[in-house]
Amino acid sequence: MRLTQTSELWWKNAIVYCLDIETFADGNGDGIGDFRGAIQHLDHLDRIGVTCIWLMPFFPTPDRDDGYDIVDFYSVDPRLGTLGDFVEFMRVARDRGIRVIADLVVNHTSDQHPWFKDARSSRDAKHRDWYIWSDEPEPDDPEGVVFPDQENSLWQWDDQSEQYYFHRFYKFQPDLNTSNPEVRDEIARILGFWMELGLSGFRVDAVPFLVERVLEQDDALPDPHEFFADLRAFMNRRDGTAMLLGEVNLPYKDLMAYFGDTPLGNEITMCFDFIGMQRMYLSLAREDARPLAEALRERPAPPKDSQWASFVRNHDELTLDKLTDAEREEVFAAFAPEEDMRIYDRGIRRRLPTMLEGDQRRIRMVYSLLFALPGTPVLFYGEEIGMGENLAIEGRQSVRTPMQWTSGRHGGFSTVEPAIPMPGGDYGPDEISASAQRRDPESLLSWIGRLVEQYREAPELAWGSYEVMDGGDDAVLVIRNEGIVTLHNFAGRPAKVTLDLDAEGKVLADLFSDDQVEITDGRALVEVDDYSCRWFRLSDPETAP
Ligand code: MG
Repeated sequence: MRLTQTSELWWKNAIVYCLDIETFADGNGDGIGDFRGAIQHLDHLDRIGVTCIWLMPFFPTPDRDDGYDIVDFYSVDPRLGTLGDFVEFMRVARDRGIRVIADLVVNHTSDQHPWFKDARSSRDAKHRDWYIWSDEPEPDDPEGVVFPDQENSLWQWDDQSEQYYFHRFYKFQPDLNTSNPEVRDEIARILGFWMELGLSGFRVDAVPFLVERVLEQDDALPDPHEFFADLRAFMNRRDGTAMLLGEVNLPYKDLMAYFGDTPLGNEITMCFDFIGMQRMYLSLAREDARPLAEALRERPAPPKDSQWASFVRNHDELTLDKLTDAEREEVFAAFAPEEDMRIYDRGIRRRLPTMLEGDQRRIRMVYSLLFALPGTPVLFYGEEIGMGENLAIEGRQSVRTPMQWTSGRHGGFSTVEPAIPMPGGDYGPDEISASAQRRDPESLLSWIGRLVEQYREAPELAWGSYEVMDGGDDAVLVIRNEGIVTLHNFAGRPAKVTLDLDAEGKVLADLFSDDQVEITDGRALVEVDDYSCRWFRLSDPETAP
């Protein structure tokens, strides 16, 4: 592949690693993770081969929604460190060749933000139009409430100024009015500020909500997609390699608009593939690769400089909202049989290893898939060592427990009791830790390391145009991505597939062993063990890797 191209469009085959400073490592012994602690563990990410860190919100916050309720966009939460610590973190990451992006949460602010305090002080206040007000609560669409078990309306009465304000999320998170040019300018200023401090881009929270039109009168305003095109243009004037990673959980046909309508893409650079992710879990539950294969066949190609982002789990609940009710029940029955493991009747608040009951074959197959799927893999901290969740913690926070560094006291996370409790038992630090797995060539961490190596050596996986092939066994997903062929067996039995490869004189060279598979009359017969995977490169027999 053309490396000059891959280095500029670095997100196309990046290894993205999402971490929360609060739960990654505690450097000052107060039980809460901080930038100083994270700096000491950047070499762990470097060793895995991570090329981009995505930081969850680290801004000052009353912390009623795990930092997604912000009171100052230009600073660091004092619990996590100082702006000086942040700059030092950026320096060390850059030294390791790792880029950093951060959560941009500008759909709303905390109700404690000075802008909102001013806005509610009077109807003539300077920041009044930075939020969305109405005399009457508009009729609510019950589907539109993001936290249906905790909020039953999108409008909240404000006693002080005697109007309702709009909030898509919790009532203590009033939505910013992005139709207001002053708000748009301020958002650009926030981006510009953090880019000056070295960020390579932003993960945009709740993309469709950010530009939704709430009130009738907004129809007079320009197309909401202009907002993202403007932001992207602003960023790229300052840094041509800056990007936006978007949380756009919509059907493919509606999602495509957020990439932008130019051939290269001029809005959100990378979008998470929520559909593919949900279908993967359906495939796992059914031990049948077809639901995922169908999603990959339906999935449109992104614009030329854009990319899909693949993920297994993220910091939220595992949302299953794009499956049918019956499909969702199948996934619940397989991976969240108890009520306590679910959330809002639409998602699962567990991590992968517990869902798969610790079956290493399946866990490894799924992570192989993460790297083999056409797109850019995004890991959530702790996935590389197979961390579990702590269901004793409420809601979706159950998967945001402290990183387990060692089998020692407090898992090496802190010298004191962590503020957020770690899981115990089979998933506690005695059983699962980074340092133990680092020394074990058979560990999940070592497997992830091998996957990263092969992924980086095969840029076709991220750059190529792929084809989902039919190998004759419904349990096996076969993807051909130019010269790379990957097979994933979703079933607990061995499988044999026949591949029509139209590659006479070549062999399939196994990328994880010395094995080679002959191609005879354009066909290859490949065996895949139960819950297993294989990666091949089409090669000349003499020069096979
Ligand atoms: Mg601390």
